[in-house]
Amino acid sequence: DPRISKISSVIRVIPNFPKPGILFQDITTLLLDTKAFRDTIDLFVERYREKDISVVAGIEARGFIFGPPIALAIGAKFVPLRKPNKLPGEVISEEYSLEYGTDKIEMHVGAMQAGERALIIDDLVATGGTLCAAIRLLERVGVHVVECACVIELPELKGRERLGDTPLFVLVSSA
Ligand code: 5GP
Repeated sequence: DPRISKISSVIRVIPNFPKPGILFQDITTLLLDTKAFRDTIDLFVERYREKDISVVAGIEARGFIFGPPIALAIGAKFVPLRKPNKLPGEVISEEYSLEYGTDKIEMHVGAMQAGERALIIDDLVATGGTLCAAIRLLERVGVHVVECACVIELPELKGRERLGDTPLFVLVSSA
């Protein structure tokens, strides 16, 4: 698809952010290109519009940028999966390990019902730890995760393997 190479070309790479040695993939420059941003959303919508998905779950923070336009276009609701202590209502949470220590993601109780079909959205998959925790969170409430979708994959970190049986769809693979 010719749209993919354009999308890839407008993602900015910033060395040594947020710490030395990290090559940060910056999607804010993709958002500045109205054609590439629209194409990004369209590519996901084309894939998911006939898949009977009732809920799009977006991971804080950049899953909140790509998730809602996809949800609106496919006629699904949007549910934010947030960092700890951000959601005001009753939550369920799922812990996951980082390089040093652990983190958590949370979801409002009652946002999804058992038997729903979900799509999980984030901007980028690295080790897959975040998506894995999101999958566990949704599966705990009886939701079927149809697929995870990201704009960018860092294949060297093998996040895809960590997701087990849940498919992963990405637009751009980055070395
Ligand atoms: P993982 O859990 O797969 O190791 O890390 C993925 C999470 O970290 C995603 O929520 C993603 O937004 C963030 N992340 C890690 N590295 C980058 C990066 O280079 N660019 C962006 N935009 N996000 C990153």
